[in-house]
Amino acid sequence: MFRICHGACNPVFADSHLGKLCSEKSHSGSTRAQVGLSRRQWLMASLQAGAWTAIGAAMPPSEPIVAEAVAKPEWLPRPAPGVEIWDAHAHLDGGTGSPADRARFLLKYMDRMGIRRMILCMGPKFEPDPTPEQLREQNDAVLEAIRVAPDRLLGFVYLNPKHPEASLREIERCVVQGPMVGIKLWVAMRCHEAALDPLMRRAAELRLPVLQHTFFRLGGNLPGESSPDDLVLLAARHPNVNFICAHSGADWERGIRAVRAQKNIWVDIAGFDPTAGLVEMAVRELGPQRVIFGSDVSGRSFASQLAKVLSASVPPEAQKAIFWDNIARLIEPVLTRRNRHPPNPS
Ligand SMILES: [Zn+2]
Repeated sequence: MFRICHGACNPVFADSHLGKLCSEKSHSGSTRAQVGLSRRQWLMASLQAGAWTAIGAAMPPSEPIVAEAVAKPEWLPRPAPGVEIWDAHAHLDGGTGSPADRARFLLKYMDRMGIRRMILCMGPKFEPDPTPEQLREQNDAVLEAIRVAPDRLLGFVYLNPKHPEASLREIERCVVQGPMVGIKLWVAMRCHEAALDPLMRRAAELRLPVLQHTFFRLGGNLPGESSPDDLVLLAARHPNVNFICAHSGADWERGIRAVRAQKNIWVDIAGFDPTAGLVEMAVRELGPQRVIFGSDVSGRSFASQLAKVLSASVPPEAQKAIFWDNIARLIEPVLTRRNRHPPNPS
C-alpha cells in the first residue's frame, strides 16, 4: 500500500500530479492512485513523503493559530516614566447604548491603552447645527457620561453661536453650575464671525479654553466649517482666551504654519492619519508647550493616535507636555476656581 495520502495534503504534493492522484484515492476509497503510479513515480513519492516526515519530526510543534491576537502590554510602546496620558478630544458616538454605557466602554479601553483622563464633547449623535433644545440634549449626554467616572472623564460644553442666549445658558448650566471645563465649537458657523464675540467674552471671564474644529479641506471647507486662518482672526480679537485648533487643520503642515504666530492658539493632533513627522514639526514650529494630544475617538482609534506621539522623535519632556501638562494647564483655572467655590448643589 502506498501511504502517501498524508503527503498529498502537505505543500510538497499540493499541486503535483501525485497529490491529485492520492487525493482521489483518499476521497473515493478506491486504489486508483496505486493503479496510476509507475514504479519510478512510487519511489519518488516515497522519498518525498519520507523527507517531509523527517522535517516535521525535527521541527518543534507550532503554536496554534488563534482568531484574535491578544496584545501583551510589554509589546506596546509606553510613554516616558511618570507621564500621564490625557485625551483632550473625544466623543460619545459609535455605540448603541446610553451615554453612561458608552462611558464605561471607553473606560475599559482607556485602561487598556494607559489613558488616565479624557475630555468628552457632544452627544452620541452629532448635530452640526443644533437648536437650543438639541444643545441641551448634546450636553446632557456628556454630563451623564461624566457621572460614571468624574475623576477621569471631563467635558467641554457644546455651543452654537447662532443661538447666543441659549449658548450662554449652557455655559452657566454645564460649567458654572456643572462639571465641564471648557467650550467646544464645531461647524455651525465659521469662527471668525462677530456672533462668537459674546461667547468668547464669557470664556475670557471664566478662563475657559475653547476647542474649535478646524480644517483645510481639499476642494474647500463645508459651509460653516472653520479653517485655522479663521481661528487666528478670532484669537487675535480675544487675546485673553486660550484656543485649541482641533485636528491642526487636518492638512497639518498648513495648519501648524497658519497658527504659529498667534500665541494663544494650541494645536491638537486628533483625528487624522498618523503621518510620520507631524509631532516633530509641531514641536519644532510651535514649541512643545503648544501641542496637545487628542484621539477624536471614536472617529479614530486610540492606538493610531497614540502612535503619533509615542513614535515621534521628541524628548521625554516634550512628550510629557503633549500628553499631560499642556491640557492640564489649560483647564487648571476652572478646576482651581471650582475647588475654591464649589457650585451650589441646589
Ligand atoms: Zn472631534
